[in-house]
Amino acid sequence: MNTTPSGTFDVAVIGAGIVGSAIARKLAGYELGVALLDARDDVGDGTSKANTAILHTGFDARPGTLEARLVREGYRLLSEYAGRTGIPVERTGALLVAWNAEELAALPGLREKAERNGYDRTEIVGPDEVYRQVPHLGEGALGGLTVPDESIICTWTVNLALATEAVLRGATLLLNRAVRAVEERDGVTVLRTSGGEVRARWVVNAAGLGADVIDRLFGHDRFTVTPRRGELLVYDKLARPLVDRIVLPVPTALGKGVLISPTIYGNVMLGPTAEDLTDRTDTATSAEGLAFLLGKGEKLMPELLREEVSATYAGLRAASDHADYLIEADAGRRYILAGGIRSTGLTSGMAVAEHVAELAGEAGLPLVPREDLPEPPRMPNLGEAYLRPYQDAARIAADPAYGTVVCFCERVTAGEIRDAFRSPIPPASLEGLRRRTRVMNGRCQGFFCGAEVKKLMGAAGGSAPAPCPPSPEDGR
Ligand SMILES: Cc1cc2nc3c(=O)[nH]c(=O)nc-3n(C[C@H](O)[C@H](O)[C@H](O)COP(=O)(O)OP(=O)(O)OC[C@H]3O[C@@H](n4cnc5c(N)ncnc54)[C@H](O)[C@@H]3O)c2cc1C
Repeated sequence: MNTTPSGTFDVAVIGAGIVGSAIARKLAGYELGVALLDARDDVGDGTSKANTAILHTGFDARPGTLEARLVREGYRLLSEYAGRTGIPVERTGALLVAWNAEELAALPGLREKAERNGYDRTEIVGPDEVYRQVPHLGEGALGGLTVPDESIICTWTVNLALATEAVLRGATLLLNRAVRAVEERDGVTVLRTSGGEVRARWVVNAAGLGADVIDRLFGHDRFTVTPRRGELLVYDKLARPLVDRIVLPVPTALGKGVLISPTIYGNVMLGPTAEDLTDRTDTATSAEGLAFLLGKGEKLMPELLREEVSATYAGLRAASDHADYLIEADAGRRYILAGGIRSTGLTSGMAVAEHVAELAGEAGLPLVPREDLPEPPRMPNLGEAYLRPYQDAARIAADPAYGTVVCFCERVTAGEIRDAFRSPIPPASLEGLRRRTRVMNGRCQGFFCGAEVKKLMGAAGGSAPAPCPPSPEDGR
């Protein structure tokens, strides 16, 4: 059951990024009719698709904050969830490197901070150990701090798994619904969206970069989002032997700084920058940003700069003037804000969802656990460290479509593309298909396979299920 006969959802969650999808999944585990809304034509098309994809232990969070607690819990929850759903994760570990005396002097404080955050596995190491762990590091490292549990993960699969499980649990996914106005009618909140009205008794605002705007529609004026752009360079797979773990700088007041990290897809990334903008949609990369990264890379790992770049991208952190996550319930309006989730929401999303459910329960949302929950979805594997369909002889024997490679750079098969269109949340565009399969993401960026992929997409599109069931308000 998704709505009551009056066409009113019990809860509408605005924003189908990692945070909103995790919340919808959690709430759909109770006897509630849940809607998950997004302005875009796909889930995970906002900040959640373009980050550095690190599953953080939370060792460097500010102790005592809500963020520190939820990152720590999120790490545990997402690690466990990844195992159950097949989200690829690699526990590469991280090495935080000190490049000058001041940074070296900061290491004991960082170690102590990690301990205050409940993480006691860091170790301070000298320069010999630094170069033993990362032999291709540039010259001049003075020491480091190891963080053995920092991990890399597929952010796309995280978002898709959470949204898919929400749908499997009965949540109604309403895409192309940009919330523009909010009205209160007879004890029900009416969300006026670009795709018609959506009525709900309770509303959760997980709108990321748009969360402050929605918050004002509910009569609050407590924070302002500033889009903080992070640009990144992705190096070709031939660069992967250069680095097998995350190489971090000593964080500053301005943020976590520029890192080098292997990716779950077998590449190496360098970034991100941190630049405050005014335009909340500006995810373009810039000549200045990329030049800045190359300058950093020259010092960090000059050999990396000799490898080929296969892609660049940028994401926008929802930075805010509030120093911590801002997650609060307004019982009177039956409204919950999950805002200010800047640079750690991939990791913390599932813990944010637990916290939101707790607040909602305390504020009066009846939470009766469902006893008939389906199994979590088993997600297609996009990670290089795990068996992929083109490598799986038994699977190919059973279904030759998994032996038909379409994208040779990323080794994506016709079977995987077909499956994406048959999945509970099929892609609405080539971009969506890329995030579900890795197709066209390799060094040729679709030059060789683009036409074939479009053909397959056209063929599948005709028979693909509709991206979302109609809203109860459609047609008004
Ligand atoms: C460069 C960079 C690096 C990062 N690295 C990491 C990392 O390594 N590890 C980590 O844990 N985190 C990282 N993060 C942070 C992480 O990506 C975010 O915290 C997380 O993705 C936020 O998820 P979200 O669901 O809150 O936002 P989003 O993914 O942006 O989702 C919000 C959704 O709300 C929708 N929306 C907005 N307004 C409306 C409206 N009016 N009506 C309907 N829908 C609306 C949007 O379309 C969007 O889909 C990084 C971020 C960046 C930018």
